[in-house]
Amino acid sequence: MTRRRRVYEGKAKVLFEGPEPGTLVQYFKDDATAFNGEKKATVTGKGVLNNRISEHLMTKLAEIGIQNHFIRRLNMREQLIKEVEIIPVEVIIRNIAAGSICKRLGIAEGTPLPRPIIEYCFKSDELNDPLVSEEHITAFGWANPLELDDIMSQSLRVNDFLLGLFAGIGIRLVDFKLEFGRFYEGDEMQIILADEISPDNCRLWDAATNKKLDKDRFRRDLGGVEDAYQEVARRLGIIPEGGPGDLQGTTAIQ
Ligand code: UDP
Repeated sequence: MTRRRRVYEGKAKVLFEGPEPGTLVQYFKDDATAFNGEKKATVTGKGVLNNRISEHLMTKLAEIGIQNHFIRRLNMREQLIKEVEIIPVEVIIRNIAAGSICKRLGIAEGTPLPRPIIEYCFKSDELNDPLVSEEHITAFGWANPLELDDIMSQSLRVNDFLLGLFAGIGIRLVDFKLEFGRFYEGDEMQIILADEISPDNCRLWDAATNKKLDKDRFRRDLGGVEDAYQEVARRLGIIPEGGPGDLQGTTAIQ
C-alpha cells in the first residue's frame, strides 16, 4: 500500500497513483464517519463490502450504457479506476423523504416524494457541504449548463435503474448521493459517474419491514452496521447465501 504515491485521502477511501497514466487505485477503508467527520469509528469489513457492492453496481450501470470510472477490482479492498477531474458538487437523488430534507422542509421520514427530487451540495468539508442551486453551480463555473444537464439526466437514469434493481431484491432505494467527473481522452471530454455507490452513500430500507440497511445504522447508533451491509451484499448475490464465511470472511481478508 505504501509503495504507491497517495494522490488523495478522504474519509472512507484513499486514492493511489495507478499502474498506467490516467488510472488510479481506489482503496476502501473500514473508517466510518458522520456529521462531517465529528463522529468516527471503524466498521470491520465495511471497506471489503463497499468495494464489492460498488463494483457490482458500477458494472451493471456500465452494461446499460452509463459510463463510469470503474475499470476492474484488483483485490478485496482496491479497484482500478479512470482518473477524472471531480466536479465539486454532490448530487443527491431522493425518492422518499429522509435525512436532511425532513428537517429542512418539515416532511415526515418515509413520505414518498411526488417524483424523484435532485438536490446539489457544494463539496466542502469546511463549509459542511452546503445545499446549492443550479444557479450557483453554473455562476461559479463548477459545471457549465450543458454539463449540468448531462449530470441531471444521467442521475435520473441511474435512479430509474437502481430503483428497479433494489426493488427486485426487496429493498427501497430511499435516496443516494452521486459524484461525477470529467474524463479526458485525446481531444474528447466526457462527464462520467465516479466515486462509489454503496450503503455509505445510499439509504436502503427493507421493503417489508423498513429496516435500515445503510449508514444510518451508524449515524443513529442503531447497531448492526456490518450485518446490514452484508445483507445488502447477500441480496445482490455478491456474498453466497451462507453468509460472509463463504467469502472467506470479510474480516479475515483485510
Ligand atoms: N450523502 C452522502 N454524503 C454526504 C451527504 C449525503 O453520501 O456528504 C448521502 C446520504 O447517505 C443519503 C443521501 O446522500 O443517502 C441524502 O443525505 P441527506 O442530505 O439526507 O444528508 P444527511 O441525512 O446525511 O445529513
